[in-house]
Amino acid sequence: MTKALIIGGGIAGPTLAVALRRIGMEAEVFEQLPPDADQRGSWINFQANGLDALRAVGLESWVAEIGYPVDTISFVNGRGRSLGQMPMAFRRPDGLTSLMMPRARLFVALAEAARHHGIPVHHDKRLIDARDAGDGVIARFADGTEATGDILIGADGIHSTVRRLIDPTAPAPRYVPVLNTGGYIPDFTVDAPPQDFRMQFGTRCFFAWMNTPDGGTLWFANPPMKDEPARGQLSGMSDGQWRTWLHELMDGDAGPSSSIIDAAPGPIQGWATYDMPVVKRWHDGSRMALIGDAAHATSPAAGQGASMSLEDAVVLAQCLRDCPTTASALATFQSLRQTRVEKIVEIGHRSSSDKAAGPVMRVLRDLILPGKFRAAAKDGGEAMMWLQGHHIDFDERVVPAV
Ligand SMILES: Cc1cc2nc3c(=O)[nH]c(=O)nc-3n(C[C@H](O)[C@H](O)[C@H](O)COP(=O)(O)OP(=O)(O)OC[C@H]3O[C@@H](n4cnc5c(N)ncnc54)[C@H](O)[C@@H]3O)c2cc1C
Repeated sequence: MTKALIIGGGIAGPTLAVALRRIGMEAEVFEQLPPDADQRGSWINFQANGLDALRAVGLESWVAEIGYPVDTISFVNGRGRSLGQMPMAFRRPDGLTSLMMPRARLFVALAEAARHHGIPVHHDKRLIDARDAGDGVIARFADGTEATGDILIGADGIHSTVRRLIDPTAPAPRYVPVLNTGGYIPDFTVDAPPQDFRMQFGTRCFFAWMNTPDGGTLWFANPPMKDEPARGQLSGMSDGQWRTWLHELMDGDAGPSSSIIDAAPGPIQGWATYDMPVVKRWHDGSRMALIGDAAHATSPAAGQGASMSLEDAVVLAQCLRDCPTTASALATFQSLRQTRVEKIVEIGHRSSSDKAAGPVMRVLRDLILPGKFRAAAKDGGEAMMWLQGHHIDFDERVVPAV
């Protein structure tokens, strides 16, 4: 039986492992973090095409109960003036919709699903090297152990080691000049309609909030930071420093940001934002390939990174099932996926730039955005059909590209 070594137990890795099991391949997942690691990344907007990809390989039920549905997004400017409202998600005929969920719970659910399917998920296994040994691939880990398989898939995220092994000249992730912070506040609500995610293009900072059905509030903020923070700069900021800075950024703006900042459970933490615009080589032509953020990370503003990673996992399994050789499968996979994901990376980058607009751009943005939102609202989200309406039929055969 062909065996895949999957590096990375995030979102794409465990899903790929289950998909490979379905096509009769053996798979093992190797994750660098310990099993009880506190996965960073607060809450994510998990869109319907991600659920569709999970459904394609029978995993939808593992995550469908985790999140809160979101109906609409409404936008206001710093003064609280409405810039428009649009559906959060395109209404799919199959009823799948967009959910807000804790990124950490999504990780845990997918790892549990993989184990449930009999897939070994090894923790504390940081890949440091891999080489093609002619009749297979040998992976080497930081703890001195090795593993062998027929193929090795890098689902190891935006700072991928496998990407560098495949192409030492691959570009580094691109810094996107807004930070991320946010979380969930239990037993705390703000003045906002249910299932409406209110997003504020504040005077100095993008800030968003939504009441949850269980009486809490979700929030996030994107403080602008022009230059990439130095290593340790953000993790070195105390809870108090974050709160003070967020208050300064939101000072004078209308809305509940100030009470949210005060009520948020600590410690408040923040992360820099990166994306990965164009990775030319997604595979080495024979035994190694990349999926998910390792191949094409998008800024969180697109709300699509998780879903794209899941689509990748399912499509790669289809290619390995239907193409005559592994080389053909890897090339077909890249050709099927690259245009779609690069378009989304571009959208994410543009949305992040809107959030970091200076004074002049802010005026233009307030003039332009209402028209855009009106257009999006008019067709009930139809314009998002190519994105959120995407459907994968796992049984449909892939036509090899080479
Ligand atoms: C703050 C934040 C907000 C986000 N918001 C959204 C959102 O709203 N919607 C959305 O869809 N997406 C969002 N994303 C993006 C989304 O989380 C990613 O696109 C998604 O997690 C990518 O999945 P992946 O499996 O490719 O990579 P990851 O989920 O990053 O998983 C990679 C895994 O590989 C492991 N790893 C790395 N290197 C090695 C190694 N050398 N050896 C072994 N293991 C290794 C890592 O520890 C990690 O567990 C957000 C991300 C962040 C950081």
